[in-house]
Amino acid sequence: MSAPILRVEALSKRFRGLLAISDVSFAVEPGSITSVIGPNGAGKSTLFNLVTGYLAPTAGTVSFKERTITGLATNRIAELGVSRAFQIARPFRDLSVAENVRIGALFGKAGARDVAATTREALALAGMTHLADEPASVLTVGQLRHLEVARAIATRADLLLADEPCAGLNPTETAAMIDVLRRIRASGVTVVLVEHDMPSVMEVSDRVLVLDAGRLIADGAPAEVSKNPQVIAAYLGTPD
Ligand code: ADP
Ligand code: MG
Repeated sequence: MSAPILRVEALSKRFRGLLAISDVSFAVEPGSITSVIGPNGAGKSTLFNLVTGYLAPTAGTVSFKERTITGLATNRIAELGVSRAFQIARPFRDLSVAENVRIGALFGKAGARDVAATTREALALAGMTHLADEPASVLTVGQLRHLEVARAIATRADLLLADEPCAGLNPTETAAMIDVLRRIRASGVTVVLVEHDMPSVMEVSDRVLVLDAGRLIADGAPAEVSKNPQVIAAYLGTPD
């Protein structure tokens, strides 16, 4: 494996009595799509909050490109090249799609200069070029998710964390989002994805991490993980 782009070591997060993340360690290879799966409350969003600096860990470290980022401010972590696509997109509704994406380009990774080209590229990757001049207020739920991803990659992030980008989307929209994530990977951006739709996860992921009650119970190739008895019991469900 080449030097990991993201490394999480012995990470724990306690909320009062609850250990939401419990001694989790893994490394993410650059240029890959890694999916994090697990039941509701398993700690997936908390893990993203720890990586992006929205929460401070109780113990453990997070490194990005071999540099420890634990304890850095969220905006500093974003400037280094970690971007998160939120599940609930809150675009500026009166601005156009392109203007919303341009904001991502303006406030992204330090050193990003060509805002217009970055905006165009992000729109193309998200499959939104044809919607560039539409006001954000007319977008469907599916298109808003694409806009959120476009905004996140316009920051010129090297690592995109996408928390349930397909939640609530129909099968056609889900397939379109999975295609977008593939294009993003092909453009050189590493993706960590939280997703519930198992067929999509199995199809798109290079690697799958399984969280259950804050613990990492499996880490491997999709085919391997889907056969893991502990994973089947915890998450995929046993056949009736
Ligand atoms: P997932 O995203 O896998 O559904 P979360 O990371 O959102 O799970 O939550 C993991 C656990 O931590 C849940 O029991 C949740 O209620 C709890 N939790 C998450 N964020 C907080 C918080 N800020 N304060 C207290 N408890 C939290
Ligand atoms: Mg969550």
